[in-house]
Amino acid sequence: MLDRPAALVTYQAYIDGKWVDAKSGKTFQSNDPYTGEPWALIPECDTADVNRAVEAAARAFETGPWPRMTPTVRGKVMRRIAELTDKYAERLAQIEVRDNGKLISEMAAQTKYMSEWFYYYGGLADKIQGAVVPVDRPDHFNYILKEPVGVCAFITPWNSPLMLTAWKLAPALAAGCTVVIKPSEFTSASLLEFMKLVIEESGLPPGVVNVVTGYGAVTGEPLVTHPKVAKVAFTGGSVTGARVNELAAKTFKKVSLELGGKSPNIVFDDCVLDDAVSGAVSGIFAATGQTCIAGSRLLLQESIHDQFVEKLVAMAKTARLGDPSKSDTQVGPVTTPAQYQKILSYIEIAKGEGAKCVLGGGPATREDGGGKYFVKPTIFTDVSNKMRIAQEEVFGPVLSVIKFKDQDEAIQIANDIAYGLGAGVWTQSLKRAHTMAGRIKAGTVWVNTYRAVSFMMPFGGYKASGLGRENGAEAIEGYLHSKSVWINNGSGGGNPFIMKTAS
Ligand code: NDP
Repeated sequence: MLDRPAALVTYQAYIDGKWVDAKSGKTFQSNDPYTGEPWALIPECDTADVNRAVEAAARAFETGPWPRMTPTVRGKVMRRIAELTDKYAERLAQIEVRDNGKLISEMAAQTKYMSEWFYYYGGLADKIQGAVVPVDRPDHFNYILKEPVGVCAFITPWNSPLMLTAWKLAPALAAGCTVVIKPSEFTSASLLEFMKLVIEESGLPPGVVNVVTGYGAVTGEPLVTHPKVAKVAFTGGSVTGARVNELAAKTFKKVSLELGGKSPNIVFDDCVLDDAVSGAVSGIFAATGQTCIAGSRLLLQESIHDQFVEKLVAMAKTARLGDPSKSDTQVGPVTTPAQYQKILSYIEIAKGEGAKCVLGGGPATREDGGGKYFVKPTIFTDVSNKMRIAQEEVFGPVLSVIKFKDQDEAIQIANDIAYGLGAGVWTQSLKRAHTMAGRIKAGTVWVNTYRAVSFMMPFGGYKASGLGRENGAEAIEGYLHSKSVWINNGSGGGNPFIMKTAS
């Protein structure tokens, strides 16, 4: 269990290798979602601080050693970052629990696993290769250079702040970019601790990684619009993502967006029932449903519907709510007061739409094991895919159960949504598994598992769930330019008034 000292911890922003207050001197409080009490003071950075941070990152990129050192040496520094991440994994997990309310049981594994991103991309740093192209011109030698794009801005959400930063930071560093990060106003502390424990100690040159904390409109917008930022990597809601995309487009930045979801978790009657029940519970109630890949639409084949719902409710009922820092807690608090209200309002919307609440359906009290912002694990049946509860992202422990007749109808319902982030399929038929994987419009399809991620597998969305991919070898491309080099080893000449298109 966490020791929760009463005194507020004061954090600073990290710019150009130094710990600094916001120029304005302003701070805001970060709250512990379990107790609802403030526990930390975070600098409220504004345009002046963002400008300082971007200038530092631009200097580090234009004249500093990071992009200039051999990629092999860059890889070694990243291995050091990975080792330090391992070393401080427990401490980082505890901070995330305090600031975000995530379960210690999940965080302990997550922060430990996070080091793999730095090992993997550190290992890839010196495997970034251009190509020699046998172009269709005599006497020409053509090659493609891969170059880092420059200063990258990362904007991250509150639900998995550190992990989602690692997904961006590791490939960006491997490519030779420099970075300014704005974490969510609700969860800045774990990143600031990471900077202190890992980045500072790793020997990364000053200005390569900078952190400015603050509010979306005040800190995020000047960062996204700064002319010296070449790439924006954003994770957050689809509405904010669209705004960020629009702002970044004005100065032609590269953009990657990891956005919201309303993922179908589809159970066929030929599944292993108990595995699928467990997969449905973990799909929606793990991380208190506050994950972009939550399996929030459970599609059940009608032949097993009643039996499945009975087992599902029985298992979900056993969920232990409580202090997220206790290792046996299974469902923790909602991270922010606004999110708590939003979840409760969706529960009322679902009831108003005629969905049948078969479990939960409101706030969890202290008697239920809850603390300040707790919602009971909630299951609605009799949901039609047209209802708002089926179409809109709730981002909480609320499951909508939708019936389907056959495979075609399952696919139709699964794809009839604005989002396309993840999908689960539970079946023992190999043929069906491959057919579903091919026909579902989503960036990830899990068959007989759910919510698995790896640094090696690309992650991202179709449709309103995003642009581009994080993780896997291809993620590095998002931080690189391809430059075409033409060398004419023969004579010049030819007609100067026509484009040289043919030999
Ligand atoms: P938001 O979209 O509200 O915020 C995300 C980040 O953007 C925060 O740092 C926020 O700052 C910042 N921001 C807000 N407005 C602006 C702006 N105008 N310009 C620049 N930055 C801005 O998302 P949440 O933090 O509420 O996170 C939940 C959302 O994230 C869900 O929709 C979830 O699905 C999605 N998500 C997607 C993932 C994916 O990989 N696809 C993974 C995890 C979450 P501030 O906190 O100060 O508002």
